[in-house]
Amino acid sequence: MPDHVSQPRLLLRRLHSVMASGGRAQDRLNRVVRVIAQNMVAEVCSIYLTRAGGILELFATEGLKEEAVHTTRFLPGQGLVGLVAERGLPLNLSEAPQHPRFVYRPETGEEVYHSFLAVPILRMGQVAGVLVVQNVAPRRYSPEEVEVLQTISMVIAELVGSGELVAPDELTEESTATGEPITLDGMPLAGGVGAGVAVFRQPQVKISRTVADDIEAEQSLLEDALTEMRSQLEQMLEHPDLAHGGEHREVLETYRMFAYDRGWQEKMRDAVRSGLTAEAAVDRVQQENRARMFKIRDPYLRERIADFEDLATRLIRIIQGDRENHKIKLTEDSILIARAIGPAELMDYDQGYLKGIVLEDGSTTAHVTIIARAMGIPVLGRVSGLLTHVKPGEQVIVDSTTGHAYVRPAEDVIETYRATVELQEKRLALYAAERDLPAVTLDGEEISLFMNAGLLVDLPSLDSTNADGIGLFRTEFQFMVSPALPKVEEQTKIYAAALDAAGDRPVVFRTLDIGGDKQVPFLPREDEENPAMGWRAIRIALDRPALLRYQLRALLYAAAGRSLHVMFPMIAEVAELKRCKKILQKEVDRLTLHGRTPPKAIKVGCMLEVPSLSWQMDLLLKEVDFLSIGTNDLMQFFFACDRSNPRLADRYDLLAPPVLRFLRSIVQACHQADVPVTLCGEMGGRPVEAMALMALGLRRFSISPTSIGPVKRMVRTVELHKLSNFLEAHLDSSDHSIRDSFISFARDHNIKV
Ligand code: PEP
Ligand code: MG
Repeated sequence: MPDHVSQPRLLLRRLHSVMASGGRAQDRLNRVVRVIAQNMVAEVCSIYLTRAGGILELFATEGLKEEAVHTTRFLPGQGLVGLVAERGLPLNLSEAPQHPRFVYRPETGEEVYHSFLAVPILRMGQVAGVLVVQNVAPRRYSPEEVEVLQTISMVIAELVGSGELVAPDELTEESTATGEPITLDGMPLAGGVGAGVAVFRQPQVKISRTVADDIEAEQSLLEDALTEMRSQLEQMLEHPDLAHGGEHREVLETYRMFAYDRGWQEKMRDAVRSGLTAEAAVDRVQQENRARMFKIRDPYLRERIADFEDLATRLIRIIQGDRENHKIKLTEDSILIARAIGPAELMDYDQGYLKGIVLEDGSTTAHVTIIARAMGIPVLGRVSGLLTHVKPGEQVIVDSTTGHAYVRPAEDVIETYRATVELQEKRLALYAAERDLPAVTLDGEEISLFMNAGLLVDLPSLDSTNADGIGLFRTEFQFMVSPALPKVEEQTKIYAAALDAAGDRPVVFRTLDIGGDKQVPFLPREDEENPAMGWRAIRIALDRPALLRYQLRALLYAAAGRSLHVMFPMIAEVAELKRCKKILQKEVDRLTLHGRTPPKAIKVGCMLEVPSLSWQMDLLLKEVDFLSIGTNDLMQFFFACDRSNPRLADRYDLLAPPVLRFLRSIVQACHQADVPVTLCGEMGGRPVEAMALMALGLRRFSISPTSIGPVKRMVRTVELHKLSNFLEAHLDSSDHSIRDSFISFARDHNIKV
């Protein structure tokens, strides 16, 4: 057995017997620091514990001056000890006094010590203290020493948890909740509005035993629990809600794969071998994952770590004898409040009463978001300070359309909310009643309304909205939720499902638009100064043509005997498009070689979202069967205005004369060349904007399914020739925006916007 495995086992045993020896907790703590210092060959070992308000107080020391105990204190974030508590991560320094956060405390007499190793003492996900060792000689502690100290800190956490040293209520996270109503801002991750009482993600499981009495018994406990957990996940996949497949099923399948992750299992086995109980071993590895999570900026990877947390909690529960597939009973409408939550854990909540989720973390591509969206539960993410502003049982309204959560809302907010929900329901009923009516203006102009999609869960909206087809299928979404590059067969299945759902209606598949803010797990992330203008979309595809080739192959297979519409993203010049078409042609030729049925027809188009392309319209329109204007990107480049910078969100208006002139010239060029042109950016989904776009000649929109009802309603109340004349008169304006004039026009002409 390697030394770093056997050594902590001995040390753990010693500490365990100190802990079991009885007497005052303070005396045991004093002995603990002595044992650690001796065993780790450190001149100093100190334990700081967290008191109310996050203050860290020196509770015991071997090596520092005795009078510093219960005197030396650090405020949250203060000094190196505060830094360790703040980050929840170990700190390993050979020259501690040189660290910028070092604070010298004369009462400790620590000036002679150079090297410093500290680890957080974590209890139920919170920092309960900091364990420090110090040496006179400058040196960096080895990774094994860091691990040993982390393991020891778990034993100390057990002692802290007994409540003998610090009153338990001092250890719980401080809530600054005041009883006053507050509004929290966040990022809408899954749309909708919901209200209920705050329910905190079930508390972290408590570790009851840390040090193993019988290592072999703990080993088999761990193995049995792993087997049981896997079988629970299999059962979960049998859930009737998941029976029809789709990505929420895929997400859980991915998650099931994690349950078989070798690295994770090995780490837990190692921890048991080092002398921890099975439950403490799972917790120890989970703590490490959690610590890693704070260092990772990549939202995809952060979410994967949340998945592991979910599994670990499940595993500990099983080890502790709770073999039930844990259902969390809710008895009234509830809003789930959490830092992050894994997808399977979400399935544990009673869905009839779960009306919304508010998270401190979270991203649009998080697994839990995808599952919640599929279940129709609104999710608001990135709400900073959430956990300190809400208490369990308080009333919360989540409005994920505006990005707000109202905590302890005042009566008038509740009233407004009720009115909003009623109005929303009325509107939805109205749109549903108009589902079969054509999108035709009062003067007989037909407008095509396609929908945007990206995941299989979006497909049922084709029928519920009666859309004319899918004008933009963002294929990258599938890639973003898969842990590995989806194989040609998997891709083929997804594309075929979209074509099946659409029947005779067209589906425009956009090839991968990854990079920038849309990261996928299987391509190394590169830090770029300007990711939106960086190595993304077609630039990656042309540099890594295999990725594009396989995708085109899957599209051709899926569309055998049917019509295929392929669209290339972020094309900046005609030459790029030509290269894409060549690759496509090669794949078409390959079909014949392999005797596979080709599509009945292949239509090729591209996105116009990089302004340079608009100066090659004559050449471009000879190369494409259709064009799609992607205003989300096009407008950020047009105004040189980052689309994801909230500071700039209201800086420029899309109903500004230069925008309308520019878009009109593109639409006119397409009409002259008889090339169908669609607009697929968010702009087209807003009735006032859509009205202006119709005025400048646009007749085809691809918008989110929820926008189809409102836009159709506007279309059916417009007299287009009057509107076009109105626009002409305003294009020469030098105003910042002509929005107000459009809104007045709509009001004066009874247009429903
Ligand atoms: C666009 O840029 O307008 C667009 C539709 O593409 P995405 O939003 O996927 O970048
Ligand atoms: Mg785009």
